[in-house]
Amino acid sequence: MKTFTEYVSVDTRQRNQMIDITGEVDRIIGKSGIRDGIATVYCPHTTAAVTINENADPSVPRDIIMMLGELVPHRHEGYRHSEGNSDAHIKSSIVGCSSQVLIEDGKMRLGTWQALFFCEFDGPRKRKVLIQIRG
Ligand code: ZN
Repeated sequence: MKTFTEYVSVDTRQRNQMIDITGEVDRIIGKSGIRDGIATVYCPHTTAAVTINENADPSVPRDIIMMLGELVPHRHEGYRHSEGNSDAHIKSSIVGCSSQVLIEDGKMRLGTWQALFFCEFDGPRKRKVLIQIRG
């Protein structure tokens, strides 16, 4: 068993934004030298997340962000968290802080339309994503 870990920096530009980080993860898999195993993509932030979804049609991440905003409004009279970003914390928990992808022959076994997204819910900020390759 070999393990290789690296951080990816993500500069987000909007309060809510999904950024395709598939290429960065591919690069780290190549650097790791691991041909078969698992990539874990982990978001160490409480107001952001990671997910796998479609990148072919940009309407998909746009619609996800729109509907998360409908489900979890930015302002709500019931929120008690003093930072004013309760919506971002809730979205982070809904979407989740990690994703795993199988690696075969040095490539992620993503479906044709799938990509790995970093999901910002309280940007713009400088963020980090932890990528660990095991095989
Ligand atoms: Zn907060």
